Amino acid sequence: MFENIVLAFDGSEYSRKALQCAKAIAERFEATLCLVHVFRNPSDLLGYADYEKLFSKRKSAAQAVLDDALQELGHITFTVQEELQEGLEAEAILKVAESCKADLIVMGTRGLGAVKGLLVGSVSRKVIHYAECPVMAVH
Ligand code: ATP
Ligand code: MG
Repeated sequence: MFENIVLAFDGSEYSRKALQCAKAIAERFEATLCLVHVFRNPSDLLGYADYEKLFSKRKSAAQAVLDDALQELGHITFTVQEELQEGLEAEAILKVAESCKADLIVMGTRGLGAVKGLLVGSVSRKVIHYAECPVMAVH
């Protein structure tokens, strides 16, 4: 039933739980698991001398988050793809879901955001609203 699963990972405890769910489903269905992490372009600093430096710093920090996800997956029996994306989180997750023909998106209900009162984070809300495939929100 599931061939292409997208896991949106931000390093939060919620996304770690989501990772375990995505792993179990990918194993069960021998699906391809696409790990997505999105980082923001420091566009407000465009033109400043340090822009390039800051950009590459952000990019390598983002790659480290993906590496962490890969490590957390441990031993796997299915294909994994990595997608490091630059831009707005929900938009980038949806774009990857479309390009890899996702039939399931797995993510946390919340993430690293500081506002603890929210039931569902803004990235999850947007993805749930606009995705064209089922979304599993894990908490
Ligand atoms: P907010 O960001 O609105 O303050 P929050 O951080 O608590 O709230 P979200 O950002 O919506 O909640 O996080 C929900 C889920 O979305 C995370 O568990 C993760 O699966 C996914 N997600 C969030 N940010 C990213 C990101 N930068 N890259 C990939 N996935 C992400
Ligand atoms: Mg967040």
